[in-house]
Amino acid sequence: MASIFTRIVSGEIPSYKVAEDENYFAFLDINPLAEGHTLVIPKKETDYIFDIGDEEYQGLFLFAKRVAAAMRMVIPCERIGIAVIGLEVRHAHIHLVPLKTIYDIDFRKPKLKLSPGEFAEIAAKISGAMIG
Ligand code: AMP
Repeated sequence: MASIFTRIVSGEIPSYKVAEDENYFAFLDINPLAEGHTLVIPKKETDYIFDIGDEEYQGLFLFAKRVAAAMRMVIPCERIGIAVIGLEVRHAHIHLVPLKTIYDIDFRKPKLKLSPGEFAEIAAKISGAMIG
């Protein structure tokens, strides 16, 4: 069965899309640790990130780098943190989390509750700051 993220890529399940190219897709985490918390995924479904082939793996991180640059331009934060967990959704993904303090990337902390309008606004802001 297709992963929930594959179903997001196909449009079967809605998401707050931030960026997309032929091979990669970025969208807001629905349970954000911080405003702007974004997930970056390869469109091709692989469970474990370190099972991805070298070329696709490099492409994923280069795509994440572009997304992080856009996030840093429009989300008030010191820098963008990166984490790979993958225990909940078995489709490789990179968490990009805007950081003001180390606590912002503590996955045990209560998640932010944002309205659909707030999610849409944040996604549009990051998307608008993407270069290339
Ligand atoms: P993990 O697999 O532990 O890295 O966590 C998966 C992440 O995906 C969690 O932070 C969830 O909030 C997020 N997530 C799960 N379903 C969705 C969804 N439909 N849209 C956006 N984010 C999601």
